[in-house]
Amino acid sequence: MNRHVTVYCASSGAIRPSFFEAADEMGRLLARRGYTLVFGGGQVGLMGEIARAVHDEGGSVLGVIPEALKEREGIAYDVADELIITRTMQERKRILFTRADGFIVLPGGFGTLEEFMEVLTLKQLGYHDKPIVVVNTDGYFEPLLSCFEYMFEEGFAHERYRSLYHVAAEPSDAISHLEAAG
Ligand code: AMP
Repeated sequence: MNRHVTVYCASSGAIRPSFFEAADEMGRLLARRGYTLVFGGGQVGLMGEIARAVHDEGGSVLGVIPEALKEREGIAYDVADELIITRTMQERKRILFTRADGFIVLPGGFGTLEEFMEVLTLKQLGYHDKPIVVVNTDGYFEPLLSCFEYMFEEGFAHERYRSLYHVAAEPSDAISHLEAAG
């Protein structure tokens, strides 16, 4: 069965090489395990890196980019096997959400965080039950995870919501989790 994984990740290219290396490894693993990559459709930052890695390994890529961002995000990754140009960001987000069997969050900035929070909160409310894996490359997400801990401690988030997401130290752990989730 062809499974689709939506990966949310950085558009920035001004980041350490280890983040690119992890994105490359994540893309290669997805392709080798037969997953189609669904992503934001840009050529820049970790978005471009993971899409190229999937293609290098013979995998398939679906990019979804709003018309207005094509320029800004390094022009669309137009060698994608399927490239959907949307009119709005809302439409992009909807497609990234509905086409996914699971979600992977790689290091990123505000956009990545917004997308992560949306799929996390929708899962919290029972709108879906798809796996969400956060790849904590070089401990990038530690400050955010500490903030989550504080929310649990202070009662703003229920303990049972810890199981809404899985934190993977490495891309290989992320793949194992997705596969176990089915
Ligand atoms: P960033 O993590 O800020 O580098 O952004 C990563 C990706 O998230 C980029 O493709 C952005 O276009 C996208 N993005 C930024 N803001 C939003 C938003 N409000 N909703 C959905 N995606 C967004």
